[in-house]
Amino acid sequence: MDSELTRAWLLNAALLIEREKDRLTQLDLAIGDGDHGVNMQRGFSAVAAGLAEPPPAGTTAGQLLVTAGTTLVSTVGGASGPLFGGAFRALGKTLDTAAEPDDTRLLADGLNAARDSIQRMGAAQPGDKTMYDVYGPAAEAFGHALCDGAGPRAAARAAAEAADEGVRATEPMQARRGRASYLGLRSVGHQDPGAASAALIFQALATAMEA
Ligand code: ADP
Ligand code: MG
Ligand code: MG
Repeated sequence: MDSELTRAWLLNAALLIEREKDRLTQLDLAIGDGDHGVNMQRGFSAVAAGLAEPPPAGTTAGQLLVTAGTTLVSTVGGASGPLFGGAFRALGKTLDTAAEPDDTRLLADGLNAARDSIQRMGAAQPGDKTMYDVYGPAAEAFGHALCDGAGPRAAARAAAEAADEGVRATEPMQARRGRASYLGLRSVGHQDPGAASAALIFQALATAMEA
């Protein structure tokens, strides 16, 4: 994971979120307060603005990810800002500090760290109908693909597919965390907005890897 690929990933994510912001807002109107698309668009456009120019030589992928995470924490707002921001910060810190010579294995560790950050901060369990229901399966799929001998591209594609499946799986769930949990059973039958955004982030990674 070098800084060029990281920049492409984050810029792709910003484009996807810009394109899908109305859908994200519609999802949040159904089971939340209808601000998720706007929240994410505000955050990722700030991240993209910071990456308008290629970063200075010597900037690591980890540094870019930590900076992006900090930007998300301070701009997205809501429940999702600290969760997504913390996830990117955890990923970036892992890339910069873990003692793992294999670059793709390191990314797998970083995605696990991102997932664990969300779990630690939000205390969601699998099946609680949150973004964790995407980060969990996607990080796991990435790791499994590597164990099966896949390279980084195929692993990222497997993660994106697991992420999409993870979003679909949130539809029949009853929300147990965040604002949607106030609806109780009425949260059933809608996809979780934060999960949908998380899937766009994994889609953006797979696309960046394939470019
Ligand atoms: P808010 O609910 O404050 O308006 P957003 O609409 O931006 O914030 O984000 C809502 C999303 O945040 C949810 O769809 C869910 O995926 C995620 N979320 C909320 N609380 C938690 C939590 N405790 N753990 C994990 N994810 C959560
Ligand atoms: Mg909301
Ligand atoms: Mg809100």
